[in-house]
Amino acid sequence: MSEEQRIRQIIKLLEKEYPESRTALHHKNAIELLVSTILSAQCTDKRVNIVTKRLFQKYKTPEDYARAPIEDLELAVKSTGFYRNKAKSIKTACTMILSDFQGKVPDSMQDLLKLPGVARKTANVVLGSWFGNAEGIVVDTHVKRITNLLGLTQNTNPEKIEQDLMKTIPKEYWILFSHMLIWHGRKVCVARRPRCSQCVLNNLCPSAFKHPAISKR
Ligand code: SF4
Repeated sequence: MSEEQRIRQIIKLLEKEYPESRTALHHKNAIELLVSTILSAQCTDKRVNIVTKRLFQKYKTPEDYARAPIEDLELAVKSTGFYRNKAKSIKTACTMILSDFQGKVPDSMQDLLKLPGVARKTANVVLGSWFGNAEGIVVDTHVKRITNLLGLTQNTNPEKIEQDLMKTIPKEYWILFSHMLIWHGRKVCVARRPRCSQCVLNNLCPSAFKHPAISKR
């Protein structure tokens, strides 16, 4: 089987396994998704959703965040961790959205990366999950781990992993591929204890059954 065929097969099996995979971050519009994604750094989506349930009742527009006293924002996002940086990123990004982008979250990688606190991962999440725009591939902790286990990259730097994946994953799957791997990472290919015996990819994965935690069971 060629590498191209193996990748197609991996995608096909993941699609069957996770037919409705999408981001777990609750949001109703682009600004909510941007804020949620900033908050999700080093934090679980579950915790972010708890925090944003109340946050989004109080802050609805970029103006609301831009005008909010920083101490209020810090308090509101405190339990997501790194709250000072996150509150500052949200406030300054929203200030720039108002000054430079007519109050609208930008819909291109180039413009999103101009926002303070927004790197490629956040930009890719907003572009893919709100605008349906595949300019890159989201590489979070699950995607990083599983693409290495699957032998799709040898890199550990997220931007290099993204470049590797953009060369081999068909573009029509760039958005979906990350979502599927993230769900796979939560349900089966769990960090430090991958459940290879239950994994639909175990015939295609060079790391299947090699993990120490598996051999001990
Ligand atoms: S076979 Fe094991 S290591 Fe490979 S993707 Fe599946 S769970 Fe992860």
